[in-house]
Amino acid sequence: MDQSLRRPKLLKDYAPPDYLIDEVELDFALDPNATRVSSKLKLRPNPKATNNRPPLILDGENLALESVTLDGKQLAAADYRLDDKSLTVPTVPDRPFVLETVTVCDPEANTALSGLYRSRATYCTQCEPEGFRRITYFLDRPDVLAVYTVRIEAPRQEAAVLLANGNPVAAGDLPGTGRHFAVWHDPHPKPSYLFALVGGNLACVPDSFATASGRDVKLNIYVEPGKEDRCGWAMESLKRAMRWDEQRFGREYDLDVFNIVAVSDFNMGAMENKGLNIFNDKLVLARPDTASDGDYGAIEGVIAHEYFHNWTGNRVTCRDWFQLCLKEGLTVFRDQEFTSDLRSGPVKRILDVRMLRTHQFPEDAGPLAHPVRPASYIEINNFYTATVYEKGAELCRMLQTLLGRDGFRKGLDLYFEWNDGSAATVEDFVGAMADASGRDLSQFMLWYNQSGTPELACSLDYDARAKTARLSVNQVLSPTPGQTKKEPMLIPLKLGLLGGNGDDLPLQLEGGTTLADGLVEVTDREQVFIFKDIPTAPTPSLLRDFSAPVRLTMTLDPDQIEFLMMHDKDPFNRWQAAQSYATNLLTAASRGGFDAGPVTGTEATRLAQALATTASEISLAAAYRAEFLKLPNESDIARELASNVDPDAVRTAYERLRATVGRKISGTLGEIYEDAAATGPFSPDAESAGKRALRSAALDLLVGSGEAEEIERALRHYREATNMTDAIAALSILSHLDRPARDEALADFYARWQDEPLVLDKWFAVQARATRPDSVETVHGLLSHPKFSLKNPNRLRALIGSFVHANPTGFNRADGAGYELLASSALQIDRFNPHMAARLLGAFESWRTLEPKRQALAKGALRQLASGELSTDSYEIVTKTLGAD
Ligand SMILES: [Zn+2]
Repeated sequence: MDQSLRRPKLLKDYAPPDYLIDEVELDFALDPNATRVSSKLKLRPNPKATNNRPPLILDGENLALESVTLDGKQLAAADYRLDDKSLTVPTVPDRPFVLETVTVCDPEANTALSGLYRSRATYCTQCEPEGFRRITYFLDRPDVLAVYTVRIEAPRQEAAVLLANGNPVAAGDLPGTGRHFAVWHDPHPKPSYLFALVGGNLACVPDSFATASGRDVKLNIYVEPGKEDRCGWAMESLKRAMRWDEQRFGREYDLDVFNIVAVSDFNMGAMENKGLNIFNDKLVLARPDTASDGDYGAIEGVIAHEYFHNWTGNRVTCRDWFQLCLKEGLTVFRDQEFTSDLRSGPVKRILDVRMLRTHQFPEDAGPLAHPVRPASYIEINNFYTATVYEKGAELCRMLQTLLGRDGFRKGLDLYFEWNDGSAATVEDFVGAMADASGRDLSQFMLWYNQSGTPELACSLDYDARAKTARLSVNQVLSPTPGQTKKEPMLIPLKLGLLGGNGDDLPLQLEGGTTLADGLVEVTDREQVFIFKDIPTAPTPSLLRDFSAPVRLTMTLDPDQIEFLMMHDKDPFNRWQAAQSYATNLLTAASRGGFDAGPVTGTEATRLAQALATTASEISLAAAYRAEFLKLPNESDIARELASNVDPDAVRTAYERLRATVGRKISGTLGEIYEDAAATGPFSPDAESAGKRALRSAALDLLVGSGEAEEIERALRHYREATNMTDAIAALSILSHLDRPARDEALADFYARWQDEPLVLDKWFAVQARATRPDSVETVHGLLSHPKFSLKNPNRLRALIGSFVHANPTGFNRADGAGYELLASSALQIDRFNPHMAARLLGAFESWRTLEPKRQALAKGALRQLASGELSTDSYEIVTKTLGAD
């Protein structure tokens, strides 16, 4: 590997492109092993370029070049230079010119699934971030926006459907050849990463949508023939998303057609290519017997997410890949708001925060920590991270909290107005927010540039004589890789002070300000807020609605936490109180080296009773009650412990607390289980899904008690399930046990679903996640299962991904077998799909928080990896994870 490729790219080195491309004409002759691409680029020197008469350097990889033509004149080999990364034409005119190339690529051999490849027999593309250069020579960077016209030709028998971005303009047969063609034109200038092409024998599910201004848009979902009956939910979700974006953000769709294509081999979830979204079929196909409520929710969310990109990402794109959060953070925020508006807001907030804490907090605390807008990268593929996406979304949410809903909307409108049809930066976005609101947001910019999770250390002192409550807030900004010193941030802190009856007390700051919305702004390293006219010592409820992505530390006694658990008017903090109470018990037990006291004693019993009370409160949404019944998981506990983590002690503490709760409130749980039973046919709506979730949560705790009759109940739940949600819930609960019920359910599930790839993925995943002493051996065995393949990303994620990311005890087994399994599989995968290998290797990110023996084993595995032949993707992850020593 050429070491120059491993030199980091730096944000500060950004320079505008030397040339611009205004128009692109592409002609594809599809062929499995030799697809010929004829390209015609209308170029001109960029008036903003800093170089004088520079050479034209086009990106290109894995291409066989047949010819280069400049302004109609074919170039001799001496007129250009070629290497494995680029095509250079040293001398080009100092005025607009036309460059034509003819290249050949091999879709069948493309196992990295970047560029043009084949998923089963379907031709499809993935160009973000740098796949377009594997299709043709181009200025493959997001700040080069062009208008595309694309002609595709193929044998009709092999590819009856031919799609590209934009609107269809022509199609027809080529008489006597068996071939046909289609021409697509996209009037909106776009960067190359949004290019897409599909060719195959696909079935089409059509529909339509009338936009707010009355234009009729044709909607099509293309799937493998025979799967048409699984597209209804995705189509409904798309129409809901289109309507919502008009109503909430005033954004209307801008082409005559919107096409979605589902393919079974896809490295990511889905891709927002202009007018032609390509999806992992897992995020399109759903039927009650094959998809769980979780799948239905994910489909709705991702369909909306990709659709929302049409404005946040496509109409306004990113100047460079350092600005990735500009489109991803903002679009995740928009899809979160969509789900929140359509379903339960509090439940959506809980799920998003859970996700942020599970995936982003460890990233921010470990060797791979980076700012939401990174300052450098070696391989951009490695920066599609929880920090860029989830923390990036939190930054948008904080802006909305600070400016209010209307203020945020005004800022976003201005952002579109100023940047439509161009490539923008984070400064453009925050600048529009500042301009629309008249606020100085320069301190807020630190959120984009400083990595690490800020800690808010708070304390509240009550002065009974003065009737004042004094809240002290201390910002702790720990060093992260490459950032030793940090500036204090602007942190929106939503809070309430509860009086003795549980009601919120009016909040009036000394100096006269009344806080109607309970929002204070923390701007200094140390800050004090004094609230006046507080009649009695209040109970503080801080960081309501999780108003900032920070770690809040505050010492409250168990009585106060229990009080919040019962009375807090903020649904998020009410749930948080239950989590905090349980976390305190779990960390005490884990630290105590298998000390059962905290998770079996009186405090555990109090927790159980408090959970029972809330879970039985029928005025609360079922989905919310279900979240209340879920104890903090192993990664929550490990994160709280932060160092010297023994995953076995953590698991034991978790199982003991689960057993205590299951036993102490078995009566209530049994009633909840019966009351939430479904009546009538399956419906994926929020309320019905909530009831199923509540029932599963109760069942999980009941089985946790270890009683034989409860295991029987779980097996019955599996056998009587009439939908995938109930079946997979029971199977997951049973999968951890060493009982015949587990084997029966697993065997039955396999027999029923072995020919349904997406459902069979669940069978692999459930076993990979199961916490059992032999889980490493189980995964080893499944690696050679006839239905397993390393080449299919969904299956790979289901088995190896689930094991390394969602089975902390198995992956961190004391003998290091889990690490060896990951290292050896990743090495194999790295040879044909570096992107997927690097993703899996991210599982080592928290190795330094483990107890010394496991640390040594993990370090050994990482060193072994680092000394081998690695792709740039994996090299970056492994060396950064290993760190300096
Ligand atoms: Zn996205």
